[in-house]
Amino acid sequence: MGAGTLLWLRQDLRLRDNTALRAAAARGLPVIPVYIWSPEEEGGWPPGAASRWWLHQSLQSLESALKQNGSALILRVGTALDALCALIAETGADAVYWGRRYEPAAQAVSHEIRQTLRQRGIDARGFNNSLLAEPSEFLNQAGKPYQVYTPFMRAMLKSVDPPAPEGIPRTLKAPKSWPVSLPLDALELTPKSRWYTRMATTWRPGEEGAMARLKKFVSARLSRYQRARDLPAIAGTSGLSPHLHFGEIGPRQVWHALKGERQRGAFLRELIWREFGYHLLHHFPRTPTEPLREEFALFPWRRQLQGLASWQRGETGIPMVDAGMRELWATGVMHNRVRMIAGSFLVKNLLLSWQEGARWFWDTLVDADLASNTLNWQWVAGCGADAAPYFRIFNPVLQGRRFDPAGEYVRRWISPLASVDDKQVHSPWLAAAAPKGYPAPRIDLSESRQAALEAYQAMRDEVAGIR
Ligand code: FAD
Repeated sequence: MGAGTLLWLRQDLRLRDNTALRAAAARGLPVIPVYIWSPEEEGGWPPGAASRWWLHQSLQSLESALKQNGSALILRVGTALDALCALIAETGADAVYWGRRYEPAAQAVSHEIRQTLRQRGIDARGFNNSLLAEPSEFLNQAGKPYQVYTPFMRAMLKSVDPPAPEGIPRTLKAPKSWPVSLPLDALELTPKSRWYTRMATTWRPGEEGAMARLKKFVSARLSRYQRARDLPAIAGTSGLSPHLHFGEIGPRQVWHALKGERQRGAFLRELIWREFGYHLLHHFPRTPTEPLREEFALFPWRRQLQGLASWQRGETGIPMVDAGMRELWATGVMHNRVRMIAGSFLVKNLLLSWQEGARWFWDTLVDADLASNTLNWQWVAGCGADAAPYFRIFNPVLQGRRFDPAGEYVRRWISPLASVDDKQVHSPWLAAAAPKGYPAPRIDLSESRQAALEAYQAMRDEVAGIR
């Protein structure tokens, strides 16, 4: 048994542009890639059912890519520190390298691992594999975290120029004998019932699927992205979010693939929203459960299980909301415009808390990502950094008419709407004959809008009273 490097893979499930892997390979010693399944270390946010399905496929793809490169993937279950210590004892490894994560619980885990292993003389180090800039280093002129998107975005466009991503290291030295690995099925990531069949035909998890999506996007969709990105009926966006979440592709690779493309501006700004989410999560780690704007802790949210269930099932009677929720259930994603509409309906018409919405998205999205989900739910609810003001309330009927004018998107997910003409497809309760098999709206849009404004005012009055 000799020295070697454990490559602890986390949310960087790829071989290209993997700085931890390159550093490990550069040592010239055996490299032992490891994935440790430890959902109890996720600080109350273990991957949801859709994410687990994706993770299974992604690990399978990583395992076969490593095999093709003369290596292997060692799978373990348990706390990361215990698993790494056991592997160090089994292999004689003298270094552990990993790609950094930015979720508060994941940061705490790697912090403890770094301290403990270094005390034992192990070279333990994290590398940036997920972001364009380190949140702890990318600060405003006052040396503080950004809380407004536009200056953050401008600073990033001005100062960030990541080096060209490197390919797969030419040689990955294998150890004389491999430590024991659990079979992938032992992680029990795949759901028992086969509700994921549609997801399986929609997606190709893994590095190759991610590279193929990026290529297709740049060649076929980028030029009309700015106009098409808001239209849920067409495939106008990249579909890269789950691949980015699991690190099957990194933002440096995306950035470089767009270099020299004239029409990349709108797309880069979205990629920078993703960075902004990580920036906020790093600097304000309480925000997955608490509003960044503290006064919103006093908001009089309702607790109404029936309303929540109808929203989750896509049975509110409001087509844009229901189509989105049904798309989410079937495919594991929802178009961004529709996420905003469905989210706004939950918090501003049903008056249910954004935390309820975030939890449901967490379980059902294949791209569920603590940074992006938190940023966006707080944006929708008006309680986050640079958020839409609470009193600006989306009207889902007008949104539908504007962004899905022919009703193509809502009809795709709600078949009874086939009988309703284009004019009333977003307000079928106004049609001459109500569509069979689709519920009437659970609530009146203008009354509930009024109730939301009153609730907002009540919160402001309470805050003023306290002050
Ligand atoms: P594209 O339009 O092709 O954009 C390219 C990339 O930019 C995306 O892959 C994503 O990484 C990033 N991006 C785009 N829009 C946003 C945004 N608004 N915020 C942050 N990053 C963005 N995205 C997630 O990845 N995970 C989540 O859990 C998540 N939850 C959301 C919850 C709500 C309520 C809302 C309104 C949005 C949420 N988003 C989330 C953001 C956005 O909807 C998705 O990133 C986007 O729909 C993914 O599709 P795409 O890859 O085709 O995006």
